Amino acid sequence: MMKHWMAGSALFIASACATFAQTPWQKIQQPIAGPVHPIGSYANGCIVGAQALPLEAEHYQVMRQDQHRYFGHPLLIQFIQRFSQDIAQQTSGTVLIGDMGMPAGGRFSSGHASHQIGLDVDIWLQLPRQRWTPQQLLHPQPLDLVTADDKSVVSRLWSRDIDTMVRQAAEDPHVARIFVNPAIKQQLCLDAGTDRQWLQKVRPWFAHRAHMHVRLHCPADDTECIEQPAPPVGDGCGAELKSWFEPPKPGVHPIKPNPPILPANCQALLDKHLL
Ligand SMILES: [Zn+2]
Repeated sequence: MMKHWMAGSALFIASACATFAQTPWQKIQQPIAGPVHPIGSYANGCIVGAQALPLEAEHYQVMRQDQHRYFGHPLLIQFIQRFSQDIAQQTSGTVLIGDMGMPAGGRFSSGHASHQIGLDVDIWLQLPRQRWTPQQLLHPQPLDLVTADDKSVVSRLWSRDIDTMVRQAAEDPHVARIFVNPAIKQQLCLDAGTDRQWLQKVRPWFAHRAHMHVRLHCPADDTECIEQPAPPVGDGCGAELKSWFEPPKPGVHPIKPNPPILPANCQALLDKHLL
C-alpha cells in the first residue's frame, strides 16, 4: 500500500495545531479508579485504570517526569519492563523512556495526536552506558539520527544498538506497530539479514528522527478499544518505503480534518471528573 500524501499531511497538520490547544485531560492528575479499560482509538480516546510507570528502575530511566506523561495500561508498563531488561542483557545500555500517556489518557496539548489510550510509548534510539543525571533527564538532548536532506541516517550516530532495540520491540507479541522516520526504516531494511518478518511492524512516519514510537495491540478481551488494521504483509522495504522519498504530487493540498468526536464514555468521564 502506498502512502497517501493527503491523509499523511493532514494528520501532520492536525498534530501541529494541537501544540497550541489546551485540553481538559491535563487537569486530571490521577488515573481514573476502576478496572483497566482503554476506550476509543489510539488518536481519540481515554483510559480508566491506568498505572504509573515506576520511576525508579534498574534498566530504564524516565525523561521529563515533570510533564506527568508516564501513565499507561498495565500491559504497557509490563512491556517497558520486559523490553528494558532484555536490552540491558544484550547491550548493557539503559533504555530512555519518553512520553507514554496522561493519567486518564486523552489528547495532549502538544506533541502527539495519539498516545491517548495508554498503549503507546516513545523510546529513544540511544542507549547510554552511563545512567543520565536528573538534570539530563529533565532536559534530554535528542540525537537527530536523520540527515538534513531527510534521505538517510547520520552514519556516525548509527549503531547496532538501534537495530537491536527496534527488532526486540517488533518481535514482542504485544507490539502492533512501531513508527520511525523513513530514513531509519530504510537503514533497518539495509541492515537486516534474511530474517525480516519483524520489519513488517516497523512503519515509516513523519518526524520520529530520534525515537521509536511503540504501539501495543488492544487487549484481547477489551470491547471498547479500537484496534488498527494490521500493517500490509511483507517487510515494507520496497515500493511503499520508496514513496516516502518521492516529492509530493503537484496540486495535492492537505485537507485539515474536523476534530474527531470524543467517544461518549470518554466525554462522560470528563463530565464527571471535571465538574
Ligand atoms: Zn509517540
